[in-house]
Amino acid sequence: MTTAIVNATLIDGTGRDPVPSTTIILDEDRISRIGSGTEPPRRAEIIDAAGLTVMPGMIDCHVHLFGKVAPIMERINLPVSLQLFHAAKNARRTLDSGFTSVRDAGGSPQGFKMAIEQGLIPGPRMRIAVTHLSQTGGHGDETLASGIRLRSTTGAGSEWPDNIVDGPDEVRKKVREVLRAGADFIKFSATGGVLSPTDEPEHSAFSPEEIAAMVHEAAAKGKTCMAHAQGAQGIKNSVFAGVESIEHCIYPDDETIAEMAKRGTFMVPTLVAPVWVLRYAETMPDSLHPSSIRKAREVADDHKVAFSRALDAGVRIAFGTDQGVGPHGRNAEELLLMVQGGMSPMQAIVSATKTASECIHMADEIGTLQEGKLADLLVVDGDPLSDIGILRSRDHLLLIMQGGKPHKNLLETRTGVTA
Ligand SMILES: [Zn+2]
Repeated sequence: MTTAIVNATLIDGTGRDPVPSTTIILDEDRISRIGSGTEPPRRAEIIDAAGLTVMPGMIDCHVHLFGKVAPIMERINLPVSLQLFHAAKNARRTLDSGFTSVRDAGGSPQGFKMAIEQGLIPGPRMRIAVTHLSQTGGHGDETLASGIRLRSTTGAGSEWPDNIVDGPDEVRKKVREVLRAGADFIKFSATGGVLSPTDEPEHSAFSPEEIAAMVHEAAAKGKTCMAHAQGAQGIKNSVFAGVESIEHCIYPDDETIAEMAKRGTFMVPTLVAPVWVLRYAETMPDSLHPSSIRKAREVADDHKVAFSRALDAGVRIAFGTDQGVGPHGRNAEELLLMVQGGMSPMQAIVSATKTASECIHMADEIGTLQEGKLADLLVVDGDPLSDIGILRSRDHLLLIMQGGKPHKNLLETRTGVTA
């Protein structure tokens, strides 16, 4: 089947200026032609996008589709099987909001990714970390002072390997287990965090030897590592060990920022995550550990400063939100925070398209609208370059297409017999 989107203003995701009156021809799941003097073929389905903007489907490099901040009684009474249905709803909401691909930074097992690939449920294309490795007492160790451990997939079997690990030898074996469980990336916590009960964002976690073991074992299978890293020492340990993306990155020192720019290490900032923790502090404080509210207050401003410093230094910044902390489907708010932090609207769009596709190792297939790539695209009512905020509104997303198939289409389609 051939579809032609005509008369669109094209933002192709590469960062070049928008191109008016563009025709995009889609054959099956891919873009076959794109250009401004291109005639649609006879019998193509024609979608007229006059006055509208077409851009790549957005990519969020850091979500937790199985994640939700909720009161403690709700969390401990949630069967794992029910979590699957909630995650399916989260996946749909994410796609409804124009995010056609995500990287899940811990929580989603490979069967869930496969369910989306096989068309059983609507959702973004996924790359997954399966779980996130933590040292004992680290950011991923949700053991409370009572001894109760909140991790709800404990004992759920080989699809969700247990995530607490210490020492280079254990780390090696655990990375192998997580890769066996289908991980595309190895995620670990190189520092404490805002939501964890027994550490601070500044604390470093895992020794350089343990991190080196992870990087080595991942690389042996052609994979890379992503580190939750907030404090300076943990960020530094990760970057110099060859970790490919630094998640959150709140207190990087100048030397590490320079090294990230030199190596091409990605920063995935997730500016919106502490904003949501502070909103929950108002609306449902009993869903948070008391220390989390204090920590979110402490990091929120420093986080913005780090973002601007990294931007100025030329660090590759890939879009990520940590949704699962915030509600799924509200991902695009991050774009607004990125623009407030010094990006142009075009830079923010590139961060959520081209750069994000590079960060999740899918740049050959998605991230920009170019001939040969998968047709993951959005038709937007309005100009996101003059108001980036419109991308937050589903009402402005008139067409959401994934692999040539419309997930949502409010535009009229006609058969163009032009002969
Ligand atoms: Zn996260």
